[in-house]
Amino acid sequence: MTVYGIDTSKILHRDSDYLKYIKTMRPCPHCGGPSDPHHVGRGGMGIKGSDYVIANICRKLHILCTGPYYGEKRVQDDFGLDFQQMAIENLISYIMYLKCKIS
Ligand SMILES: [Zn+2]
Repeated sequence: MTVYGIDTSKILHRDSDYLKYIKTMRPCPHCGGPSDPHHVGRGGMGIKGSDYVIANICRKLHILCTGPYYGEKRVQDDFGLDFQQMAIENLISYIMYLKCKIS
């Protein structure tokens, strides 16, 4: 997608600061271990999804999501997780974190 000549799929949806925040501040809700940020869904045509649509799950669950036997849906069903809800909660948490840093 191009907005004012900027390819938003490559630029606006990449945010290493946000991924670092998820890794350090948002543990996996299943086991409490550190997160290995999981991009929810797919961006299409092999493009990774937005860095702002992230489920904070550990490496073990991340591997299950991307591997051939489980996948995103089964991980959510079996472990009682809702990745879309998690993505929204992560963004709200990050906005609050940034506001605290500024003020
Ligand atoms: Zn975990």
